[in-house]
Amino acid sequence: MIAQDRKLPAPEPNPETQKFWDAAARGQLLLKRCTACGELHYYPRAICPFCFSDKTEWQPAAGTGKIYSYSVMRRAPTPYAIAYVTLSEGVSMLTNIVDFDLDKIRIGQEVRLVFKPTDGGPPVPMFTPV
Ligand SMILES: [Zn+2]
Repeated sequence: MIAQDRKLPAPEPNPETQKFWDAAARGQLLLKRCTACGELHYYPRAICPFCFSDKTEWQPAAGTGKIYSYSVMRRAPTPYAIAYVTLSEGVSMLTNIVDFDLDKIRIGQEVRLVFKPTDGGPPVPMFTPV
């Protein structure tokens, strides 16, 4: 069963995430790095979740990673797969696996970034096996 595109609600950017969504609209995935402790995090926050510093800066992600865990939502009107993807940068994202056979998704699969359009908002980052 191939994952079908489903209608996605528009994200609602806020001051912490506006740059993230602006970049998404240009097809770029941004992470945040804390310049105090050096850790990357996702989703983007103004305060580092590791050391609570407010010294964070944006950094583009390569858009590659591996599936850490996943779950197929078969009872949804349009079945889809949610997953934690560990990016090449080491950060995990809660995301969807798209454009792929839902029965063939495997933990450890290498994936790449794709942006999917939303209902009137910026596109959202999702992943497809390579
Ligand atoms: Zn920090």
